Amino acid sequence: MTDAVPEPRATYVQVALNLPLRREFTYALPAGVTAAPGNRVRVNFHGRALGGVVVAVGGDTDLPPAKVKRIEGVLDGETVLPPSLLELSRHMAATYGCSLGEALDATLPSVAKRRGQRRIPHVELRAPHDLAAQAVIELEDKHQQQSRVLRTVLEFGGPMPILDLRRRTQTSDSPWQTLVKNGVLRKVMIAEQLEELVPAIEERAVRHELNEHQQRAVDKVGESIAARQHRTFLLHGVTGSGKTEVYLRILEEVRAAGRSGIVLVPEISLTPQTVGRFASRFPDVAVLHSGLTDAERGRQWQRLLQGKAKIAVGARSALFAPVQNLGLIVVDEEHETSFKQDSTPRYHAREMAIIRGQIENAVVVLGSATPTLESIGKARRGIYELLTLPERAGAGRLPKIVVQDLRAEPKETRRAGVVLSRTLLVMMQERLQARDQVLLFLNRRGYSPVLLCPGCGEAVKCESCSVSMTWHVRRGRLVCHWCCREKRRPEICPTCQHAGMHELGVGTERLEQAVKAQFPEAIVARMDADTMAERGAHERVLASFRKKHIDVLIGTQMIAKGLDFPDVTLVGVVSADTGLFVPDYRAAERTFQLLHQVAGRAGRGEKAGTVVIQTYCPDNYAVEAAAKNDYDSFVQQELVFRKVTGYPPFARLLRVLAEARTEKEAQDLLRAAVQPLQGIADVEVLGPAPAVVAKVKDHWRWHVLVKCFVPDAFTAAMGAIGTVEDLATRSCRVTLDVDPSSLM
Ligand code: ADP
Ligand code: ZN
Repeated sequence: MTDAVPEPRATYVQVALNLPLRREFTYALPAGVTAAPGNRVRVNFHGRALGGVVVAVGGDTDLPPAKVKRIEGVLDGETVLPPSLLELSRHMAATYGCSLGEALDATLPSVAKRRGQRRIPHVELRAPHDLAAQAVIELEDKHQQQSRVLRTVLEFGGPMPILDLRRRTQTSDSPWQTLVKNGVLRKVMIAEQLEELVPAIEERAVRHELNEHQQRAVDKVGESIAARQHRTFLLHGVTGSGKTEVYLRILEEVRAAGRSGIVLVPEISLTPQTVGRFASRFPDVAVLHSGLTDAERGRQWQRLLQGKAKIAVGARSALFAPVQNLGLIVVDEEHETSFKQDSTPRYHAREMAIIRGQIENAVVVLGSATPTLESIGKARRGIYELLTLPERAGAGRLPKIVVQDLRAEPKETRRAGVVLSRTLLVMMQERLQARDQVLLFLNRRGYSPVLLCPGCGEAVKCESCSVSMTWHVRRGRLVCHWCCREKRRPEICPTCQHAGMHELGVGTERLEQAVKAQFPEAIVARMDADTMAERGAHERVLASFRKKHIDVLIGTQMIAKGLDFPDVTLVGVVSADTGLFVPDYRAAERTFQLLHQVAGRAGRGEKAGTVVIQTYCPDNYAVEAAAKNDYDSFVQQELVFRKVTGYPPFARLLRVLAEARTEKEAQDLLRAAVQPLQGIADVEVLGPAPAVVAKVKDHWRWHVLVKCFVPDAFTAAMGAIGTVEDLATRSCRVTLDVDPSSLM
């Protein structure tokens, strides 16, 4: 093994690899090759060629030199990950219990990882359309997954990226491969679709005269920027209060000082409209989002690194934009759960933004109409500085909110299954006559979430998961929303042979049917994951809604956020209760946030808006507070509940989830995992207990929740608990989740 012998005077580098191994590896530099921390290198790791990042350079090593392999090459020329991002990655690894290599991997754009222009595999129809449609039905019984895959490609209506296809249908490669083999589909390589997000700038966004609240916020943040001091601000502004205008003004100051900025928005808000507001004010904006090709993303990354672009706008991962001389990070809608990544590294972009701000002496502004309990808690303790925008800016006024108690509805309404209260119906009638537009919000797709036997009371459950299957009428199938498994609707109860099953509960599909029946003249559209399967469907529906070709838009949380349509004067929340009884300590908070956001869609223009909230629980404090637009009273009551139960912000949570074929295996593993936590002060271990959804895809899910009541307890717990690499076995998957955003 001659290549294992380093040249004399060779120096050594520590390389972090994207593997779940919490250590770095020593490699030697060949003579004449130099590398610095932040350089990407290619190495041989147990016979595999891997890319890694140099995290330290030294002249010596404790290892016997003959054992040290040489690196195989330095990648990306002079491109070096900035030291601040290296440091941020270290924090990320320590906080979330992943390896440094895994953390670093999240900070790098994929083009720096893989090289060259990427063409990605797609599948498209090869057989004629009607034959394929026929095949969907024929394959249904014996080849469920193939049928599902084929139908999804048909619905998509064009070449579909295989990764998307697999994700959406929850299948492996074999179903589409079989369809290719049988001549139904064909595989094609297509350059990744480049979504044009920087719009042709039609209108320069008006530069409004700031109102006094906005001005105060801008001044306060401006002071910290001028002082070049890190500080975190919480900008609490009601929907439509002009938070974006505040961000723009602060960015102006940052740019005037020759510094740069990062603006994080939830993926769902990253629309041409949003980007346009920034791009029209600043010429040097780079947009980073998941729809970019690798090449394009790499180009944006280089522009930022070289200082050619000074403002990065993007979703979660834009946090790692390699900007020079960072002055400001904005996290808009800080309460959004999409800022938490749900795969390794499971970081929260808001928390990491604050760390990055500290590292680079940059100011961080968190904005929201409904700040999380964690953030408002920190603001009240003086850790963040609170800035408030209590009123809508410009023409809009906050809508009038009516709470409709569904218990008071006549029995017939309830028996019909579809709950449109008389109040809501009358108002819809009125608004539609006035040619205004109506939004109806229901956070549940499908026709009915449960198909129940009235004879024995059994619901149709998924065979692989411990959840009931949702009835979808248009598709004519029962669907498991956890694993995508489908089956035909049974005519008689599988358990007791009773004839006729009962549809329990209401989804958007059923709501659409009811609205069309009530208002046959109205043009009704539905926006949920089922109707938006086709390429570009989202933009198309929103565009026609904007042009007023749609009277009533029904939707799930897809329509809850960010939409700004001046002619929407009525918003109906069909059921405020869907999320209220979810067994998660944040059920009330999520309900409050959602109701507040949805209500914020009404009365955005000159016309006054009304919101009708239908509920069986009008006395619930989250519903009551949302109805009164009273964030403070909600927070006050919720804090009492959190304090008594010992949940955030009074504790930091760590969740360990184990998934295995047998319950015992998952339990045993968790018991061993939390064993070392015993006796640590201010730490409380709950469980092992079955997760809310106790089985998914034939794997039993058990979890423990570790509550850490002081920061030291968290550090101690993280140090004591086994790492994923130690815990996981061949047959049991383990997930370690710090500050989990879901407890399902
Ligand atoms: P938020 O982000 O707080 O929901 P936006 O920034 O979208 O609110 O602002 C809501 C509307 O008010 C936008 O149409 C914006 O152009 C307008 N606006 C913002 N600031 C002012 C102001 N000072 N005077 C008049 N209109 C304003
Ligand atoms: Zn299932």
